[in-house]
Amino acid sequence: LAKITDVTEKKQKEEKINKLLSETLVYNQKLEVNNEELNKLNTELDGFVYRVSHDLRAPIASTMGLVGLAKSENDINRVREYLDLQSQSLKKLDAFIQDILDYSRNNRQELQLESINLFELINEQIAQYQFDIQKNQIEITNSIDPQLIINSDARRLSVIFSNLISNAIRYSNNYIDDSYVKIVAEKIQDYLLISVADNGIGIPDEYKEEIFKMFFRVSDSGKNGSGLGLYIVKETTAKLKGTVEVISIAGKGSTFLIRLPNNPV
Ligand code: ADP
Repeated sequence: LAKITDVTEKKQKEEKINKLLSETLVYNQKLEVNNEELNKLNTELDGFVYRVSHDLRAPIASTMGLVGLAKSENDINRVREYLDLQSQSLKKLDAFIQDILDYSRNNRQELQLESINLFELINEQIAQYQFDIQKNQIEITNSIDPQLIINSDARRLSVIFSNLISNAIRYSNNYIDDSYVKIVAEKIQDYLLISVADNGIGIPDEYKEEIFKMFFRVSDSGKNGSGLGLYIVKETTAKLKGTVEVISIAGKGSTFLIRLPNNPV
């Protein structure tokens, strides 16, 4: 009997050890996957920091150059020109920092649902760009029903529409004199469809997917921009459980469609 108990005990011990071993194996595999993911994140973060530092330093370098020029200039009108250029560089810097803040806020902050008058929220965003709208002679219409109340996150919606409106203005067509931006919203069953349409320069087919990627810009010439705007729009819309897509014809114009869940108010 003693022998049988002995064998059973031995077997139980063996089983225990085997179980522990296989658990350790699974655990190690998980660690390996986590490690790989961490390495990947680290490389991505590295690339991000490199790119951001580069983009932050460019307007600083330009401002410093202009300060140097202004210092040795006696003609007050030239000095004023240098100051204007400096303020443009600083604006660029400020806009870039704002984009990075919007990006990180969207990742960190919980959703804050509240009742929102979408017509007014969009008007506030349009007001920010009054200067550029007048300068480029763009007719901007907000056709959203002023009675429409939606349940969403006001801060995130502001980020989304501020980016889309600013793009529609910046990428307007300089060769036509009836530039417009039209904003429309409609409730369709369980979702809300909001469109921002322009008759600007449009986006070539091959770039329609690319424009939503971090730092992607169709062309660097002239227009200021960080290449973060539409990436932020995509991430922020996703956080609201919505989608964004673009319909565009190069040379004719673009329409950005935002689909959001129609949460009960
Ligand atoms: P950027 O800071 O360059 O504007 P975005 O991420 O907002 O960055 O946009 C990425 C690119 O998509 C822009 O550089 C531009 O080439 C293109 N784009 C965005 N919006 C429009 C638009 N309304 N019309 C034409 N091109 C656009």
